[in-house]
Amino acid sequence: MTQAPPIKSDVSIGKPSVVKNLTDEIDLKKAMILDAHLIKTFRACEQKFNWFEELHVIGRGKMAAPGFGISMHTGIEFFRRSKMAGESFTSALSTGKAALIEAYNRNMPSENLQEVMVDDKRSLPNALRIYDGYCKHYEPFGYTFHYIEIPFALYIGQISGDVPGGTKDVIYVGIIDAVLEHRARVYVNDLKTTGWTLNENWLEGFRMDQGLIGYTVAAKELLGVDTQYALVHGIWVQKEPKTDKAKKIDDYFKSKEIYWQDEQLREWHRHTLLTAQRIEERRADGEWTMDFGQNCGAFGGCSYRALCAAPLGFRHRLIELDYEQAFWTPLEDERLQKMSALEI
Ligand code: SF4
Repeated sequence: MTQAPPIKSDVSIGKPSVVKNLTDEIDLKKAMILDAHLIKTFRACEQKFNWFEELHVIGRGKMAAPGFGISMHTGIEFFRRSKMAGESFTSALSTGKAALIEAYNRNMPSENLQEVMVDDKRSLPNALRIYDGYCKHYEPFGYTFHYIEIPFALYIGQISGDVPGGTKDVIYVGIIDAVLEHRARVYVNDLKTTGWTLNENWLEGFRMDQGLIGYTVAAKELLGVDTQYALVHGIWVQKEPKTDKAKKIDDYFKSKEIYWQDEQLREWHRHTLLTAQRIEERRADGEWTMDFGQNCGAFGGCSYRALCAAPLGFRHRLIELDYEQAFWTPLEDERLQKMSALEI
């Protein structure tokens, strides 16, 4: 196995530059830019994709679950960067803590920033408790990090059909949480925060995860990382227990190693392009199918359920009252979209 050498990175940087394989011939204004969230959304419900990506309608206010996930990711990112830069565990822990607090204040809804919320599982003290537990839990594993938080733009091919010009370039974007080495094996590492109980069935689900497989493909093609392995770190978001019988903090973290053969990665590639093709077909005919099914009620209810459930003549008014217009910015917002698809 060819392995990338460990790299150093400056802990003070906000975002590393995007790694990409885009040639000068690709016109980004005409290309289709997709990420895991958009692909998953379209596959779940075409109308949901239409509300979000075509009509740019989103619910008002910040959401607690993705804001919490972003904060946790940020803390762990800065902890890892600090370790890579040679800081001691204690020093890196406090660097990550400061980054987490800053991200929390920036991303969480205002009600979570009030003291009355201290018992909430997404309160700042609880975020810091889980962050601290995470860092201490994985410290004995002695991971070697090769890359941390790498935004990427991967050219995955062209689609054809009823589109101006006949063909369209498709670019898949995302952020790889980390590439790490453990016991002579290199993994694409992904952090997943969740309020669901961390069990084997939940972890098994990531074998079929659009995002995780995409990060592995991108790591191979853009970073030259020779691996077919991913390592999921599941992080349980649960409030601090009041009794001794409750789970200990070490039980909040579970790892799952996943392996894909090359042909499985190619299957992911082909189906990602197929979905891109179908999105383009819907754009051409405007026939966005509504789910009328389990996606309307999943994860506490689709954020567009009130809109879809309203009489057609009232929807415009409802958008003015309860929603706002927002435009997705590839890569900059990817983290938020990724989280909102996974958290509860
Ligand atoms: S409420 Fe149902 S039909 Fe409407 S966008 Fe959500 S999943 Fe689709």
